[in-house]
Amino acid sequence: MTSRLVVRAGHLFTDFGGDDPAPRADAAVLIEHGVVSAIGPAEDLIAANPDVRVIGDRHHVMIPGLINAHSHGRGIDGFRLGVADDWLEAWIPDYMALPPLDPYLDTLLADLMALRAGVTTVIHSAYPRATLPAEESHRRALRAHLDAGVRVAYAPNVQDRYELVYRDTEGFLRELDSDAAGEVKAVLATDGEDPVSGYAAMMARLAADTVGHDRVRLLAGPEGPEWCSEALLTVCGAVMRDLDIGLHTHLLESPIQYAFAAQNFENGAVAYLDGFGLLGPRSSFAHGTWLDGEDRARCAGTGTSVVHNPSSNLRLRNGVAPVAAMLEEGVPLALGMDSTTLDSDEDMWREIRLAHLLHGQPRPEPWAPRPSPADILRAATTGGGAASTFTVPLGRLVEGGPADLVLVDWASVSDPLMVPAAPTAATLVQFTSARHVDTVVVDGTVRLSDGKPVGHDPAAIAAELRGLASNPPPDVARRARAMARINDAVRRDFETRFADLPTEPFYVPNAR
Ligand SMILES: [Zn+2]
Repeated sequence: MTSRLVVRAGHLFTDFGGDDPAPRADAAVLIEHGVVSAIGPAEDLIAANPDVRVIGDRHHVMIPGLINAHSHGRGIDGFRLGVADDWLEAWIPDYMALPPLDPYLDTLLADLMALRAGVTTVIHSAYPRATLPAEESHRRALRAHLDAGVRVAYAPNVQDRYELVYRDTEGFLRELDSDAAGEVKAVLATDGEDPVSGYAAMMARLAADTVGHDRVRLLAGPEGPEWCSEALLTVCGAVMRDLDIGLHTHLLESPIQYAFAAQNFENGAVAYLDGFGLLGPRSSFAHGTWLDGEDRARCAGTGTSVVHNPSSNLRLRNGVAPVAAMLEEGVPLALGMDSTTLDSDEDMWREIRLAHLLHGQPRPEPWAPRPSPADILRAATTGGGAASTFTVPLGRLVEGGPADLVLVDWASVSDPLMVPAAPTAATLVQFTSARHVDTVVVDGTVRLSDGKPVGHDPAAIAAELRGLASNPPPDVARRARAMARINDAVRRDFETRFADLPTEPFYVPNAR
């Protein structure tokens, strides 16, 4: 039967619990109908199931599927489309002028790239693409996830204010030369419904259509407290209760957002969102780069996850999140790539490696403990599993749980040599990249074999995307022109309104 499969490995991590997780030697899992039905010694499982296909061998390390807990579903990032990295708030208007690539193709490419690294679940913080009605854009992206074969927790983004600067858009545009303001207004005019009244209905329709898909969860997706009115946050809380779903939002990504929170929210941004009933074990905050002690205590106390995105934080100059403190204080931690990684290649292993190295300070233990390899592997597996709100246990391999797993070619990771005494988990963190991943199974189905996506041709998808990017609709040039005209004014607005940025660092990377 094709729905039964034995996967074996020389080293099997069912999870990354404990300080120094040890793999089982020569072990295997039996998969039946998408579920792990047995875990045991490889020889025994193979002998007991003689007619079942076996994949993997003693040269592999098996781990649970990785979870990319913050993505925008972009296989092609902004830099490749002509928007250079910058500080977040200056970068956003340029980003709004990007050529609107087809969300199906772009998201499919992103998933296939991430699958190569062993990502089996993604939390998609989904901006609708400019040329499509929002719901159509979301439906195409959801279709891409289903076709790629991954699991997705999908959060349709919604915002109703402060598109350009952190104050009333109309007021800001009134202060500009009227020509430029007119052009930008035309760009911002949306063709969709009023977000406050339309969001709940759209979410209800999407929820109705995703019921029964084992690989899809829906999440409320307010863009962030700067960009949402109180009325909209109230709607998001109601959507969570009515549809019985969780939430995923950006939070305190930049130092300017931290300053904004200090100016506008009495007890900080996390307490503010808590007031709308938006926190809890099914809620997650992307970035959290500027969570202070009180913010973190509230996340820990409510079980709200923080999704660390170290590459993106570096590229958009948002700083280094206080991850060591989060771990010490019990904040549930997940790891994401934000569609903005060091190499723009969706290689989750580089993100894991960066997250491990970034939080070591030039202060030896016990003054400045640094996250262990296991801490980061947990964030990339069970941590993301919690944030993605699936009802089945993700990020670990357990009997009766979903069969989402990865085979890493240990022989090539260890090349040219690796002494046997080296801890396997730490070695994975230090040396693995997507090129070492052989096989990925999601929901019991092989989605990557020999390092290649099954049933898809990423090169052909990339070629289609190149065609779209090289022949953008005329509207794109107009958008880019309009946004370029106001970029200086946007920068000035932030410079004058947020002159007092926080100066006290969370870490002391090189203090004299
Ligand atoms: Zn993001």
